[in-house]
Amino acid sequence: MFSFIMMSCGYVENCSTSFLLYGTEFMGSPGFETRGEAIRELALDIYAKYFDERLSTYENRYSQSVKECCRTALIADNKAKFCAQCGSHIKNKEFDEERFMEYVLELQNSTCDSYGEAEWAHERSFAWWPWSMLEFLDAPRDSLIMIAENAEHVMLDALYDAMPELKPSDSMCGNSDYEKFKENKQPSYR
Ligand SMILES: [Zn+2]
Repeated sequence: MFSFIMMSCGYVENCSTSFLLYGTEFMGSPGFETRGEAIRELALDIYAKYFDERLSTYENRYSQSVKECCRTALIADNKAKFCAQCGSHIKNKEFDEERFMEYVLELQNSTCDSYGEAEWAHERSFAWWPWSMLEFLDAPRDSLIMIAENAEHVMLDALYDAMPELKPSDSMCGNSDYEKFKENKQPSYR
């Protein structure tokens, strides 16, 4: 069972000195049977966070970009599509793959504070949680999936595999090691 994912974003020359380590045990999951499934579940967790933090108008109803009348409409009904007062169409921001990958890059440099405290987002209970260092020290080595570079591309490809409806026709996905992970293989980095 795969219960840890260690990942690093960017190509080798711009890798951070630290990795981002996720574990499943803290979230009550025993792990996943295949690398592909494990990585897809992490991509869906990250997308749920990204959606709430960056795309959802309801979740960002207190931000300055939401007019007060529209905010009132959203507080009255979190699925409101129109604001009766100003007549605006209330909708979420569109998915943007470059911004999504930047978001993944930023996660690698996040702290406990900036990662957020929520263990769920967008009506999804997370499967993965960072900072599982103590469990990791006792874990068998073969429970680890290593994404040694370009983790932001791997997450994008895995997300499109799970949610193909997000993929635009001019997508730049498909260049990552995700296909190997999907075949349940660990790419070699040396
Ligand atoms: Zn309004």
